[in-house]
Amino acid sequence: MKLIFEESKSGRKSFNLPESDVNLKDFPGELSRSELNLPEVSELDLIRHFINLSRLNFSVDTQFYPLGSCTMKYNPKILEKAANIPEFLNLHPFLSILPDSIDRCKGALELISDFQDILCEITGMDYATINPMAGAHGELTGIMIISSYHKSRNSKRTKVIVPDSSHGTNPASASMVGYEVVTIPSNSEGEMDVDELKKHLDTDVAAVMMTCPNTLGLFEKNIKEISDLAHSVGALMYYDGANLNAIMGKVRPGDLGFDVIHVNVHKTFGTPHGGGGPGAGPVGVKKFLEDFLPIPRVKREGDSLVVVSNSDKSIGHISSFFGNFAVILKAYLYIKLLGTEGIKYSAEMAVLNANYVMNRLKGYLKLPYDRTCMHECVFSLSEMAKKGASALDFAKFLIDRGFHPPTIYFPLIVKEAFMIEPTETESKETLDKFIGAIIDAVKLAEQNPVAFKELPKTTVISRPDETKAAKDLVVKA
Ligand SMILES: *Cc1c(COP(=O)(O)O)cnc(C)c1O
Repeated sequence: MKLIFEESKSGRKSFNLPESDVNLKDFPGELSRSELNLPEVSELDLIRHFINLSRLNFSVDTQFYPLGSCTMKYNPKILEKAANIPEFLNLHPFLSILPDSIDRCKGALELISDFQDILCEITGMDYATINPMAGAHGELTGIMIISSYHKSRNSKRTKVIVPDSSHGTNPASASMVGYEVVTIPSNSEGEMDVDELKKHLDTDVAAVMMTCPNTLGLFEKNIKEISDLAHSVGALMYYDGANLNAIMGKVRPGDLGFDVIHVNVHKTFGTPHGGGGPGAGPVGVKKFLEDFLPIPRVKREGDSLVVVSNSDKSIGHISSFFGNFAVILKAYLYIKLLGTEGIKYSAEMAVLNANYVMNRLKGYLKLPYDRTCMHECVFSLSEMAKKGASALDFAKFLIDRGFHPPTIYFPLIVKEAFMIEPTETESKETLDKFIGAIIDAVKLAEQNPVAFKELPKTTVISRPDETKAAKDLVVKA
């Protein structure tokens, strides 16, 4: 495709403005600019240029997107419609914190309160905040709450424990709050090694951060023992809710011993990701941590709702107002649309789909942890890589077949990791086509691995120099 600058023809315009009927004043010469060098194109050229660019995008709405750890599931369009209802869209956030105007946004506050209650119900927590703007932001908020809690008890704690399978945001959040991060290796089952944990667990530990199921897509069977051990030295348990999609309606983190949780609503409750976002990372806590939650916060007192905007122990503001309210609105509706049974069914289908893919592919690809998986499965392509076709090569192959590649090279503890998360919203036909494409890639790796190096052929740019793209990015024409 050409750049729009290359399509420019001097004198072409995509607009018509009426002649000005006011007297124009001369703009001070020293402030006026000379040539702007903007592209000159007709309206049709302009429309075609951007529509065609948008068609190069990969999205859940166009193709299968089995990006492990990210849970790229279908986002129902009805939720977008609801988020655009003028009565919600046009609310000014100040209404919620000016005492005289709270009556004018009661519906929104009611929704926030109801969402907080539902989140607590699903996760087994007692109180929640919707303010954090992403999963990682929820982690930061949660660890700040944990830090304030220990400080309030004059307990000096310096360390946070994470497993070596943890997402990079876990150690990052802990160290942003000033903690030293201790990493515990995984055992041969792909779970946190409890004996190793015992060696590091003492009264210096503020929290143990866990994802369950973990980033290998495996349920941590020792989770109850781990939380009992952590609590026995006064440490708190933090639940990274990125994988809640696999267990919602089935198991509640609160019942497993977790004290603080965050939920990535874009992974669990069908709200858009990344560029389609913004996101939200609501946080839930057990009762004894309520006072530390960020402000402002909607709280039910008897029959009425109050907005808590002042609290001595609170960690304070972590976003403006209530964060991304419209995202929470979509998540709320998603939960309401599914209902209690739907929530469970969604988790069941996510797990069933992942196990289907895993079992159909395990004769072709190496499965480092051969046990029933949860919502995603992780293969290792290290043997393929020895033959000359790496995880990256497989990813490029799939692009040409019309699939978004799975997550590759994460989690870090699996060599040439190839992490597939089909989600609950895909049909068996789609999964079969995807499995067929991977089997074709395996055959190609055996017969002619060099052929991979020319892939993908269907994209505008085939293989960028990724180091150069990261270190020396040039985004202008
Ligand atoms: C996605 C993810 C995060 C970070 O969440 P964001 O919403 O992207 O900030 C943290 N932990 C795990 C395990 C994840 O998969």
